[in-house]
Amino acid sequence: MEYDYDVIVVGSGAGGATFAASCAAAGKSVLLLERGNPYPADLAAHDEKAMLIDKRPYDDREVDVNGHARRLYMGGILGGGTSLYGGALLRPSEQDFQPGRYYGERIPRSIWDWPISYQELEPYYTEAERMFGVAGRSDDDFAPLARPSGGFPGVPLPLHPLNERLMAANRSKGLRPFQLPLAIDSSRCLRCGACAGYVCPTGARQSSAQLVESSIRRGQSLQVQTHVEVERLFREPGTGATIISVLNRTTGARQQYRARRYAIAAGALGSSLLLLRSGFEHPLIGRNYMMHLGAIVVGIYPKATRAESTFVKQVGFPDFYFGTRRFPHKMGVVQSLGVPGPLMAAKFSPFVPPAVRQFLRERVLPLLGLIEDLPNPANRVTLGPDGQPRLHHRYSRYDLVRRKHMKPQLARILRRSGAMYFLSWRRHSHDHVAHQCGTLRFGRNPSHAVLDRDCRMFANPDVFVVDGSFLPTSLGIGPGLTIIANALRVANTVVGEL
Ligand SMILES: Cc1cc2nc3c(=O)[nH]c(=O)nc-3n(C[C@H](O)[C@H](O)[C@H](O)COP(=O)(O)OP(=O)(O)OC[C@H]3O[C@@H](n4cnc5c(N)ncnc54)[C@H](O)[C@@H]3O)c2cc1C
Ligand code: SF4
Repeated sequence: MEYDYDVIVVGSGAGGATFAASCAAAGKSVLLLERGNPYPADLAAHDEKAMLIDKRPYDDREVDVNGHARRLYMGGILGGGTSLYGGALLRPSEQDFQPGRYYGERIPRSIWDWPISYQELEPYYTEAERMFGVAGRSDDDFAPLARPSGGFPGVPLPLHPLNERLMAANRSKGLRPFQLPLAIDSSRCLRCGACAGYVCPTGARQSSAQLVESSIRRGQSLQVQTHVEVERLFREPGTGATIISVLNRTTGARQQYRARRYAIAAGALGSSLLLLRSGFEHPLIGRNYMMHLGAIVVGIYPKATRAESTFVKQVGFPDFYFGTRRFPHKMGVVQSLGVPGPLMAAKFSPFVPPAVRQFLRERVLPLLGLIEDLPNPANRVTLGPDGQPRLHHRYSRYDLVRRKHMKPQLARILRRSGAMYFLSWRRHSHDHVAHQCGTLRFGRNPSHAVLDRDCRMFANPDVFVVDGSFLPTSLGIGPGLTIIANALRVANTVVGEL
């Protein structure tokens, strides 16, 4: 049989582009298909309206979320989420691979243990950190989170004075703050006030688009098509081979390709949508959508901190990862956030007069506590009658209870560094889906998982999934590094097979 490529990859985000670059580096011919455009040259790097209000670099589809049409903050340009992310690339805890140890009967027994161990993924974490130039401090205490045994490849940015205070004040009270491991090259970073959510103007924040560019520069056999949407996969009548059908969104033309292997990496929403449109029938496709629940507390300081004008997302706390002595429930990591720009601040607090809002922006520091949300089959991506995505999602009571317990911890951390007042919101946004995952989970058995331990579809041996959809549980950290490491692991299997 004639093949156009060894491998076709759908989606150029954390999983897809990493997988494509890894296969191309191993000498395989690769076609990478991306629905979005390359970074639009006419878009000024820190134009808050274009980036975050008009959502220009984000996915341009409207998604029906619980009955309301929404544009979601999911990466919609070359590089997917990694062209816009905060770059905090943390390793999880080894125990995250055995969620039954802390959730017990709250989750099905079939997912008490992931089908692979942390040790199996460990070498790929090291490789992922090297490829993304992760910068952190090896002498920090990350426990219970894992850390690279050989140290971080990059040199971290100097700490903002407010973060120095935050760390020192909390260390003296027995907490273990660490400098967030970031995929940011400190020698090229401008330390902008606006970083996560925006495209990086200098390329200091490593994205998977850069992996693709450097693979092409090296003359490897990697072809990229942008502004094309993979519409479906189907079996060719007669040969039974899998074919992929691609719509050119600029010309409207359709093209078909045939490859030995396919890697689907269109994001937790996009990959399920593609498989549903293709008529794949596993009952778990699209189910167990997760995206973390964020506990956000904003500390207000009596004097201007100037955190709004420079880079401050630098500190993490692992202390409440598995809960506290009084509340022994898995929660997640705590990390500092950048200060929202004037337009996003107006969106979050529409009734506050602009002058007051600006006064506050100069005196705040936000902290985010991640809550690992439980997988729930009722939270799912489905296909609307018009072929467009529908998302049904509700947090469980247990998710909300854990967030309630996290918030006072955040306020305490901020108070120790001098914050006097605190703001927090009870509502949660369904637009901010940065950490979406879980809709095509991997496992040992097709009765409880869509993918096998190698992330190959049980029912379709030439189709793999290498984005965040494979995660059976959402981890208490940003999923980026684990998605990248897993894509490298799967690439190793596929290259070996080819
Ligand atoms: C603002 C923001 C901040 C974040 N900060 C962090 C952080 O600090 N740390 C962290 O770990 N994580 C962070 N994340 C999350 C991280 O970026 C994602 O977890 C990661 O990028 C997900 O990788 P993925 O491969 O699953 O999908 P994505 O990166 O979302 O890539 C999917 C790609 O597929 C494309 N696509 C979709 N459908 C099709 C189709 N039919 N045909 C062709 N292409 C298609 C999309 O356009 C997209 O480019 C952040 C995300 C955002 C948006
Ligand atoms: S702060 Fe650094 S990494 Fe972030 S957008 Fe600015 S230059 Fe890029």
